[in-house]
Amino acid sequence: MKTIGLIGGMSWESSAVYYEIINNEVKKLLGGFHSCKSIMISVDFAEIEALQHNDDWDALNNTMVSSAKKLEIAGADIVILCTNTMHLCAESIIKNISIPFLHIAEATGKEIRNQKIKKVGLLGTKFTMEKDFYKNILTNDFGIEVLIPTSEEREIVHNIIYNELVHGQIKNDSRKLYKKIIQNLEAKGAEGVILGCTKIPLLIKDSDVNIHIFDTTKIHAKKAVEWAMKG
Ligand code: GLU
Repeated sequence: MKTIGLIGGMSWESSAVYYEIINNEVKKLLGGFHSCKSIMISVDFAEIEALQHNDDWDALNNTMVSSAKKLEIAGADIVILCTNTMHLCAESIIKNISIPFLHIAEATGKEIRNQKIKKVGLLGTKFTMEKDFYKNILTNDFGIEVLIPTSEEREIVHNIIYNELVHGQIKNDSRKLYKKIIQNLEAKGAEGVILGCTKIPLLIKDSDVNIHIFDTTKIHAKKAVEWAMKG
């Protein structure tokens, strides 16, 4: 088994879910006392959030690159970044480490292709929904058409992430709003919806919607274990 390096803390509740999934997966595969070999570096999300909303992607790149390097030095064989949004820094990370980086959008694209789905809705932070770094991988590498909510809906999705979900708050009214937005994407032809923020699966479950859900936390964590077990 290889050692998975995780960059966490964005925010920490979803990093805890990653930790749980990788250990459960290894236990499922190997049984007995087995658990996943891993190293996590966890950042202070207050610093990250402030830089994100100041659009200081140079500083964010530096923080993510130095976190990934620390994982490499500590003995990780692969790096995963436990947030969709911060994959805006993926290119810099890849350039600066010599171990593999498992991209969350690539893992998700493979899963969507396996399900033979061609058109999906994407929910996430405004960074993830509006910038190209995530959608381009799905469209250019996997031929998937990506629909995003209207600008008013994107505002709602983004604010619920930063005002509630990253603080661990799960509210019924917000679930209703998300369900309505997913229904609107479905009406526009989405056959599935990407929960493209690692916190959204805490709010939206399969039973809340009619279309296929792509839980990026689960997909990404499971792919990392698949990779680690190949070693
Ligand atoms: N965890 C979220 C994501 O997957 C948002 C928090 C962040 O900005 O990293 O995008």
